[in-house]
Amino acid sequence: MTTTRKSKAQSNMQNYSLDSFPCGALVTNSSRVITYVNAYFTTELFWQPEALIGKSTDVIFTKSSKIFFQSYLIPTLLHEKTCEEMQLIIFNAQGRRIPVTVNAHLGDDGCIYWSFFNASKRDQLYNELLKTRETLEEQAEELKLFASTDELTELLNRREMKYRSILVLEQAARSHQSVGLLMLDIDYFKKVNDNFGHLEGDRVLKELGQKLKAFCRQTDLVARFGGEEFLIMLPDTDKVNVLLFCERLHQLIADITVDNKPLTVSIGASICDDKISFTDFYAQADNAVYKAKKLGRNRTEVYEAD
Ligand code: GH3
Ligand code: MG
Ligand code: MG
Repeated sequence: MTTTRKSKAQSNMQNYSLDSFPCGALVTNSSRVITYVNAYFTTELFWQPEALIGKSTDVIFTKSSKIFFQSYLIPTLLHEKTCEEMQLIIFNAQGRRIPVTVNAHLGDDGCIYWSFFNASKRDQLYNELLKTRETLEEQAEELKLFASTDELTELLNRREMKYRSILVLEQAARSHQSVGLLMLDIDYFKKVNDNFGHLEGDRVLKELGQKLKAFCRQTDLVARFGGEEFLIMLPDTDKVNVLLFCERLHQLIADITVDNKPLTVSIGASICDDKISFTDFYAQADNAVYKAKKLGRNRTEVYEAD
């Protein structure tokens, strides 16, 4: 019964030529000499059959493909008789490098039967994928920056400052180092806006941000914490150095002028040698700013526990 059906199917089968297939078919003998190529090699890769028949596969393989051939393909074929989906590069007759997917099968007759599928589109897609990934990574970096910095001054924003300060305080407590926290509040900033406009106010905030950033060390944290309030955290800095730092800050900020008059800030400083929460540390600096404002502004006050 089965035999009848099989022979019927066989009798219906027509003889098609390998030359009609949209892929390269190639046969090498046991000496690895090419004994057959289908028409694909001529129509798509421009090889005349006589340029390949009787030659070694070295003619079409690039240097890296030859190494792959010797070190992987031959041992695999001898061991498993078949080797699939190898991504190789071959030359067409004009010397162009063509990416191909290759399957190879070792026949009982000792010949290797090869099929070559053009994979140019695969490489193109892969390159596009790489480019897309690069773009996405860049965008993710930008988003991270946006999420952590203040747009106007490009300093750390409130959220990032809190997050990083907590880490610095934990580290300082572990290594028993003192940390300084400064809160800077611009004096009479409302008047800048009222008298010279909001744009001038923004210009002053931006310039102050740039000056602070340039003045501080890489390890200091500098943030715009609110409208015209800035926070600076100074790791590994004691009271003497915090005060010295503030003195220089006042001089630096006086270089910024509004209507030819130097800008001034009030600074509240808090120094901690022990474990403290960011909220408490911040409240202490805030308390000291309040004192500086009350005592006439354009000065630094240090928080002292009552
Ligand atoms: P003090 O010396 O007591 O600190 O007085 P001040 O005028 O600086 O303080 P106040 O809190 O009364 O005013 C702060 C002003 O900061 C009011 C607000 O319009 C302005 N401000 C906050 N954020 C921005 C901003 O992003 N741009 C501009 N141009 N102004 C801002
Ligand atoms: Mg304020
Ligand atoms: Mg102010």
